[in-house]
Amino acid sequence: MKGQQDERIAFEVVRSQRSTADIIIERDGSVLVRAPEWADDEQVEDLVKSKHYWIYQSLAEWRDLNATRVLREYKNGEGFLYLGRAHRLLLVADQAEPLQLKNGRFTLRRDLVERGEIAAAKTAFRDFYVTRGIERLQARVKYYAPKVGVSPASIDVRELGNRWASCSPSGDVAFHWKCMMAPQTIIDYVVVHELCHFHHLDHTDAFWNEVDKVMPQYRERKEWLRTNGAGLDI
Ligand SMILES: [Zn+2]
Repeated sequence: MKGQQDERIAFEVVRSQRSTADIIIERDGSVLVRAPEWADDEQVEDLVKSKHYWIYQSLAEWRDLNATRVLREYKNGEGFLYLGRAHRLLLVADQAEPLQLKNGRFTLRRDLVERGEIAAAKTAFRDFYVTRGIERLQARVKYYAPKVGVSPASIDVRELGNRWASCSPSGDVAFHWKCMMAPQTIIDYVVVHELCHFHHLDHTDAFWNEVDKVMPQYRERKEWLRTNGAGLDI
């Protein structure tokens, strides 16, 4: 991956074994060009130039969506999402686990947010989503894999940067822990989407056909994730 500049648009290029090039706006607002191995720098620049209008429009849209991004303070009463529902935070003096979800409330050990330090609180939330996520995503993959006609080798939940999920040629599937903040229907969409990548690596019509076969209502879920994805954060 290397950075390039096209007049006013900064973008990165990733070349891989693909037949066509496309441009995507990453979740952090950066512009990524995914190009075939054979495309040279000039061809990539031509593509970016020809898509100037679309890129500017998409970046403006990205800024709108991210204006809703939440800034966390980890104070009593703040809402945190789990499976699409907000649960209020309650700081407690002592408890067995750093973070627990009980009676509809997240209880967090107070010493984790002392002196305004929130790194430990973030870690506690991340760990919570990972632990719950592995259990739930393994069950959902087990449910959907036969419907998609694939059999993944392993399932993991972890930090994936800008991606909701990823899969490797050896059949390992990983999901971002942030998926656990989304409603179950959206988690299922991410699962089906990723499993269908075992059949098609790109987002071609053939790929979406595969998704459609298993989840005919995928379009609204995909749109939900596009609109609300930036709000799924801690
Ligand atoms: Zn995909």
